[in-house]
Amino acid sequence: MRLTAPTGKFDFLVKLTIFILISGLMNHVRHFVVYGLPGQKTYWENLGDATFTALPMCTFALLLIGHLNALQKRLYLQATRDALTDLPNRRWFMDKTPERILPTQAIMIIDVDRFKDINDTFGHDIGDLCLRRMASHLNTSLEQGDILARVGGEEFAAFLEQADDAKLQRIATRMSEGMAFGTSQGSIQRVTASVGVVRSDEIILRRDAMRLADKAVYEAKSAGRACYRICLAGHRNEMQQVVPAALSTTSLS
Ligand code: GH3
Ligand code: MG
Ligand code: MG
Repeated sequence: MRLTAPTGKFDFLVKLTIFILISGLMNHVRHFVVYGLPGQKTYWENLGDATFTALPMCTFALLLIGHLNALQKRLYLQATRDALTDLPNRRWFMDKTPERILPTQAIMIIDVDRFKDINDTFGHDIGDLCLRRMASHLNTSLEQGDILARVGGEEFAAFLEQADDAKLQRIATRMSEGMAFGTSQGSIQRVTASVGVVRSDEIILRRDAMRLADKAVYEAKSAGRACYRICLAGHRNEMQQVVPAALSTTSLS
């Protein structure tokens, strides 16, 4: 986020000094205009005069701007963060990911399996706790440079900057296997996810990639959940090799 006002003490003092020096210069210019050349006072004398007025005014202005900065930062965080999981939200995801997805990049959509049952069985609070754990599990499944956001109720999206086949399969496997967590009733519950992955051998629009990823999630659900589907868009648009167990890949158009 780009900030326009001082954010630290050092920044504040540097800007205050610059403002006061400029005030002194303007006072000096005013002096020339009123008394003509050569002026009767030196720049430093005019700076001294100006400082009495400029110092409190500049301090006030800078404090006000600093306050507005803090407010701007807080509003930005509120607008782009999800309060429950502390992950970025959909708006942030759309802001940070490119509109065109390159062949080296990939988009993933992750939908938690049978999440409604968790809520119905253990209550909404445990459901919330489960979502937080899932968010952290998904986050740790990713690698450096990848980004994750909560884009819906129990739905997450990831953008992978460098996505080769091995990496995609590694991450999608971990994500779909989900995680186990202890409920208030003392039982251990495993929560899995259905994952849709989109890669293309040519540049595609993010909008299309998201649509295909949704479709791939739907296919993973139909295939029994707790698995992933990789959609190969672009020229190839073909079935990829089948990967172990219930985890398979498919192609969509
Ligand atoms: P599927 O495997 O087909 O995805 O089944 P599902 O139960 O996960 O899907 P469904 O869309 O039927 O239910 C999603 C549930 O997620 C319904 C909604 O109440 C719950 N949910 C959405 N957001 C939250 C949240 O912030 N907290 C909690 N506790 N539940 C949420
Ligand atoms: Mg869903
Ligand atoms: Mg779901």
